[in-house]
Amino acid sequence: MITLDGSQGEGGGQILRSALALSLVTGRPFRINRIRARRPKPGLMRQHLACVDAATRIGAAVAEGAGLGSTELTFQPGAVVPGTYEFKIGSAGSAMLLLQTILPPLLRAKQPSELVLEGGTHNPFAPPFPFIAQAFLPLLKRLGFRVEATLDRAGFYPNGGGRCRVLIQPATELVPLALAARAKGPMDWLAKICVVGLPRVVGERERAVVAERLAIPADRIEIEPCTEALGPGNTVHVIAPLDGYAEVFTGFGAPRLASERVAEEAVGPAQEFFASGAAVGEHLADQLLLPLALARGGSFVTTIPSGHTRTNAAIIQEFISINLAMTPLDSEQWRVDVSGGNII
Ligand code: AMP
Repeated sequence: MITLDGSQGEGGGQILRSALALSLVTGRPFRINRIRARRPKPGLMRQHLACVDAATRIGAAVAEGAGLGSTELTFQPGAVVPGTYEFKIGSAGSAMLLLQTILPPLLRAKQPSELVLEGGTHNPFAPPFPFIAQAFLPLLKRLGFRVEATLDRAGFYPNGGGRCRVLIQPATELVPLALAARAKGPMDWLAKICVVGLPRVVGERERAVVAERLAIPADRIEIEPCTEALGPGNTVHVIAPLDGYAEVFTGFGAPRLASERVAEEAVGPAQEFFASGAAVGEHLADQLLLPLALARGGSFVTTIPSGHTRTNAAIIQEFISINLAMTPLDSEQWRVDVSGGNII
């Protein structure tokens, strides 16, 4: 039984989600204590319970201690069963983080799976759907995985109500990833702004900031009303098209947060990424580690690894024996190398 300290490193929900995914993939049970000890409201929240539930369902697992606010959990995995599943988070909890939990074990299955996920699709502190669709999944495809996601309806905090569908086909041939640094230089940015149940002027003010700060022509900044979604909701996505994938930087609207600040939240990290010449930004780096560890590994050049990325690396190494090196190349670029996992 692997014992994990949920307060280690960054001490957030990622430790639990990665542990659930890795436990199902490797068949190794784990116990975690001090869950989310470094978060303002420690313990399991509804969204984490939804992840535990989903992992239990797809993996015939037994979870002990899963209750609201619980800070300890024991998880005994069973056999993963691919198939058709519907998961409703029942709040605005992030459906994308639920996907992050159950995708790795289903990627490994020899049969396809079809998932319908309901909840939040554009949540702060989580990968929004456009990031999953344009950044994460195209890189999984490059590794040899076959996953398609479609958004039926966006879901924003606090009302939720989003829905997306994910089709996972068995991988055929897996290949290592090799993402070298980009040339530092101008980039053909575009941006997408979602405004639901709020005055259009919110999106127009955000568009003005994005256009000015990133010198994007106005016709490359789309304001999307997302009329089907339950409002209110607002996100600004700055999208950097790269080689077969994109980096996506997001600002999340919130009550009493000026539109200009929301736009800046996306623009600032986008500019840093651009200046760094890295191929992969902060969030994509931490989310790529697990698929790389399961598949044929590889390397990518990224910006300085976050505490989140380092914590995720430590959890992966609790379950799988891999070589994982993070090497500074210069003041802005780091290379991450992963090898020796080959679980799938
Ligand atoms: P945690 O804070 O431990 O629950 O983990 C949050 C997860 O959401 C990590 O996988 C982050 O990489 C991811 N994440 C947070 N913010 C963003 C963002 N703006 N874009 C993409 N992914 C994000």
